[in-house]
Amino acid sequence: MDVPERVAVVGAGAVGLTVAHDLATGGARVTLFERDTPGSGMTGRAAGICYDAYAEDIDVSVADRAMTRIRSLSGTGGFTFHETPYVFLARDGDDAAATALTEAVERMRVHGRDVSTATADELGERFPIRTDDVALAGVAENAGWADPAAYVDLFVEKCEQTGVEFRVGDAVSVRADPPGVALDDERTDAFDAVVVAAGVHSRSLLVDAGYPIALKPYRVQALVGTCDYRGPTVYDATAESYLRPHPAGVLAGDGVEPVEADPDEWDETADDWFVRDTLDAVQQRAETAPTVERAWAGLCGATPDRNPLVGEVTDGVYVASGWHGHGFMWAPAIGELLAGELLGKTDVAVPDPFDPRRFDGDESFAVVEGMTVADDDAETTR
Ligand SMILES: Cc1cc2nc3c(=O)[nH]c(=O)nc-3n(C[C@H](O)[C@H](O)[C@H](O)COP(=O)(O)OP(=O)(O)OC[C@H]3O[C@@H](n4cnc5c(N)ncnc54)[C@H](O)[C@@H]3O)c2cc1C
Repeated sequence: MDVPERVAVVGAGAVGLTVAHDLATGGARVTLFERDTPGSGMTGRAAGICYDAYAEDIDVSVADRAMTRIRSLSGTGGFTFHETPYVFLARDGDDAAATALTEAVERMRVHGRDVSTATADELGERFPIRTDDVALAGVAENAGWADPAAYVDLFVEKCEQTGVEFRVGDAVSVRADPPGVALDDERTDAFDAVVVAAGVHSRSLLVDAGYPIALKPYRVQALVGTCDYRGPTVYDATAESYLRPHPAGVLAGDGVEPVEADPDEWDETADDWFVRDTLDAVQQRAETAPTVERAWAGLCGATPDRNPLVGEVTDGVYVASGWHGHGFMWAPAIGELLAGELLGKTDVAVPDPFDPRRFDGDESFAVVEGMTVADDDAETTR
């Protein structure tokens, strides 16, 4: 394909903003269409946890690139990366999680990750968290968190500096052959390529354009609790819940509904059971009693093999979606990789396993949450 001169990017979340910026930096004329406001999609609901604790080589290479860039951005504008170890643990009696965790740590270490296992006592000596119910933990050092809203603000500014044209308030549809976008069914200006970075709406946009992708939205929940917590990020693999430090105290989540959600009709408020159970879980692990400051739900995107969908779906039409809850931390790398591919750079390429055309788009598959130490295929990863 010829290198596109004019590119339309659909969606100003973490991914669309990064891709738009990186394309513009590489010389493309970019127009970014956002139907609401930048960051108003799932990026504005993300917990902002970042780490490189992956067991698969491709995940490791993407996370490595992303973490390097996040660190380099820290301190720019109002964006800060808060270095915070990532602890993932299996509780007593959960032998399956403990075994998966042991295997995952071994494979992370094979890929050069700074990750080690810790017993309950070792964990308790290092961190101010309850550990007497812990069978085994992994501790990843190359980890932390950032405020997704600050990332959005930074990239809006960076996009503006590189000449990206913003079309905020324009809900567009996608056109193929030739690639383009339409507003109220009318094609806008001509484009050489379109990047669909519309999060969980990417599937319906591409279905309407005639190119379905294998993406299912599923609902997750989170809350911010006011309390005093200075510990690490903790993922409890037995309960499948997480918490991380937050300026107010703690940000915690789980509540994954492993069923397909309707991206246009879903409950944005957190469930009572989620708030109750999560406060309880925080109190147990962080040994502090939080009060809820705010709680919310959001949607993540699942794919059949848990790899994202990044690349060309048909001539000049690209997608970047399907993050299994990792889209914020991966955005800095995905932007570079996808922009590199469009701009024909030989040294930067989206990994082949992310090719969206590996699926027909009509597959039936179960939603599997991404934040786990166990994998259905016994491949301990993500
Ligand atoms: C509760 C929760 C916690 C999370 N925690 C983490 C975490 O700790 N770490 C992590 O890495 N990830 C996390 N995630 C996942 C993360 O939020 C997403 O993977 C990421 O934000 C996806 O970014 P995106 O740019 O692809 O999509 P979005 O941020 O959803 O952006 C898509 C944009 O497209 C726009 N759009 C849609 N349709 C159109 C249209 N027709 N025309 C124009 N614009 C359109 C939307 O308005 C939206 O702004 C979490 C998600 C949730 C819900």
